[in-house]
Amino acid sequence: MRAFVHDQPSVRVVFGVGSLDRLGDEMRRLGAQRALVLSTRGQRHAAEGAARRLGSAAAGVHAEAVMHVPIETAQAARAAAVRLDADSLIAIGGGSTIGLAKAIALETALPIVAIPTTYSGSEMTSIYGVTDGGVKKTGRDRRVLPKTVVYDPALTVTVAARVSATSGMNAMAHCVEALYARDGTPVTSMLAAEGIRALARALPIIVEAPANLDARSDALYGAWLAGGALGATSMGVHHKLCHTLGGSFNLPHAEVHTVVLPHATAFNREAAPEAMRTIAGALGARDAAEGIYDLALRLGAPTALSEIGMRHEDLDRAARLATESQYENPRRIEYEGVRQLLEDAYCGKRPT
Ligand code: NAD
Repeated sequence: MRAFVHDQPSVRVVFGVGSLDRLGDEMRRLGAQRALVLSTRGQRHAAEGAARRLGSAAAGVHAEAVMHVPIETAQAARAAAVRLDADSLIAIGGGSTIGLAKAIALETALPIVAIPTTYSGSEMTSIYGVTDGGVKKTGRDRRVLPKTVVYDPALTVTVAARVSATSGMNAMAHCVEALYARDGTPVTSMLAAEGIRALARALPIIVEAPANLDARSDALYGAWLAGGALGATSMGVHHKLCHTLGGSFNLPHAEVHTVVLPHATAFNREAAPEAMRTIAGALGARDAAEGIYDLALRLGAPTALSEIGMRHEDLDRAARLATESQYENPRRIEYEGVRQLLEDAYCGKRPT
């Protein structure tokens, strides 16, 4: 057993079908009396439903969350929180909505209660991000870590099959990189391996039958574990590349993760053999990268950057941006290797 430091702040988790019914109790437990409920425009009805449950303990609904938290969106939401004299934040939705709550909490220190409806895992991390002038700046701050997370699988049955598949692969990416993270621990490795098992089991059922509550519960359970692994470790080449492709080339977050993951895994294949064995074992596959690729195919998810809006002429610049600084990763980060990884991901080549 090698030495390690495990640093994972605790979050209260309320899990199960119907757990949204406990929202009022959870807010009272925090002493919150004026919650601002956040969502995207598309999920306004869900935010209004949550506000109705709270009655006078809801200060208002702000349904303006959008992907990647543009600074103007964050400023408008902070202004709404001040104007409505909110004492707490409820984020109901995916990573975009939780990201907006975090941007408010970063400056106001208001407590967040997250009600995740995708598998992004953001609710379990103290990582925030705000996009200013086309550049997404991220950081870690304990103030943005939700106090309570309410996981209600019933809220996820309306998430489209394709969004569920790619969001689930986003969660799987957290598990894969946690397994070879420099600061991984026996606990993060357990979370990650179990997260992969749960996601690999649930996602194929969900794309066939999006209303299957057992599979929805399993996937949300996997996403919770994946978020915990993400929050307690440092990510490597996969997350760096996805951040670059999403931020500088405006590609959709979860889809980029889905396409890049088999290739980032293959990139690290020789340098992280133990992680590869664990991933392959959790997937029931012969090889980790091939197993992930086959799962994406089975889910009908995109497997090539060319399918999701990347231009071939931008691959050189993407590789340069992703290799301009060194960061932790099992295999050394060099332009040639990363450029080849991007080429393979662009074509959707099988990572043999
Ligand atoms: P998202 O929040 O934009 O949601 C994806 C899609 O799911 C949207 O179209 C949304 O309308 C739909 N959706 C959500 N809930 C739904 C419901 N109940 N019914 C029907 N449709 C529903 O995207 P995401 O993939 O969840 O999150 C991506 C964002 O989160 C990115 O900005 C990413 O950087 C960030 N993120 C942050 C962290 C972190 O730790 N800070 C971790 C992962 C992702």
